[in-house]
Amino acid sequence: MVVNSICPLCSSPRPSRHLTSTDHLVSREKFDLYKCPDCGFVFTYSYPDEKDIGRYYDSGEYISHDDKAKGFLNLVYLQARNIMLNRKRRLVKKSTGLTTGSILDIGCGTGYFAGTMKKAGWEVKGIEPNLKARDFASGRFGIRILDPEKISELPDASFDCITMWHVMEHFHKPSDYAAQIRRLLKPGGICIAALPNCNSHDAQHYGEEWAAWDVPRHLWHFTPDTFRVFAEKEDFAVTEIKPLPLDVFYISVLSEKNRRSFMPFIKGMITGTLFAFMTLSGKYRSSSLIYFLSRK
Ligand SMILES: [Zn+2]
Repeated sequence: MVVNSICPLCSSPRPSRHLTSTDHLVSREKFDLYKCPDCGFVFTYSYPDEKDIGRYYDSGEYISHDDKAKGFLNLVYLQARNIMLNRKRRLVKKSTGLTTGSILDIGCGTGYFAGTMKKAGWEVKGIEPNLKARDFASGRFGIRILDPEKISELPDASFDCITMWHVMEHFHKPSDYAAQIRRLLKPGGICIAALPNCNSHDAQHYGEEWAAWDVPRHLWHFTPDTFRVFAEKEDFAVTEIKPLPLDVFYISVLSEKNRRSFMPFIKGMITGTLFAFMTLSGKYRSSSLIYFLSRK
């Protein structure tokens, strides 16, 4: 087990328990989340180390690693994913100012985003720890997908864009990845990172049952403020922040399931709609956010 007794972001010795959340997906084990009173960072206090965490990903429901649609909720998720894939492709194009170029998708899962970019004419590589997902992605889309250990073998300044869609919150060593991303980006290259926002309306509403705590798979729980501190510390500038508008529905439905609500799908869609409207007056309270980063 890894234990964070000081704040991983500002090294304050004063973090205290914020709440306790349950692993609803695999183990039913409980994990404490701590919050730093000095910088506001929320993190999972103690969690399995890299060699032991694999079993906490061993669920048929972990959609990004297992492509078969099981149940109504996953079917809706797969439809929504197609909408999001196109939005992500447009965001890459707009933020880099390029129609085609080279892109690395870190944590590419079953490779649908990487495949979308390849189809759009980009030169694509992926990084993925899960062997089954890696094999699926390279077989289906013909993309070179590497084990995370091989990231250091990629040549310097070789990518116009590096994407991490809901991935960074899983890294045991986020600083090591930040250093690799700095090395791999071409001058003027853009890194795009999507993360859950624990300062969102849905996080506040669902409390301990908020599905995006996703312990112990999520180790870091960023807000726009704490992510800016992290990025600065790693020599990146946050150039833009945008909401990921559909995530709130998925997270709200899962959170209703965690609460064992009656008709979680309908209830989650209704509350998700309410939060989506509330976010119109302030994107920083959105369920998930996309951060655009450039090297300082
Ligand atoms: Zn701190």
